[in-house]
Amino acid sequence: MPIYEYRCTKCDKRFEYLVIGKDEPNACPSCRSKKVARLMSSCGFISKGKGGETVSKSAGSSCTGCAATSCAGCG
Ligand SMILES: [Zn+2]
Repeated sequence: MPIYEYRCTKCDKRFEYLVIGKDEPNACPSCRSKKVARLMSSCGFISKGKGGETVSKSAGSSCTGCAATSCAGCG
């Protein structure tokens, strides 16, 4: 299931949304504005780093989940 990144055009809040079927977020989770726009994302796999920062694994990694044994960076 793809995870898309959205941005609220009202408060500029960015949030991720797990899209199931044709379901889409209809409101900003922060300010409840309905003006949200999907951002272009090359890779839907984003994990949180240990320090709380967002780590994007879009640099040609074939790892699509932390269960993969070849991915040493996950955790
Ligand atoms: Zn908002």
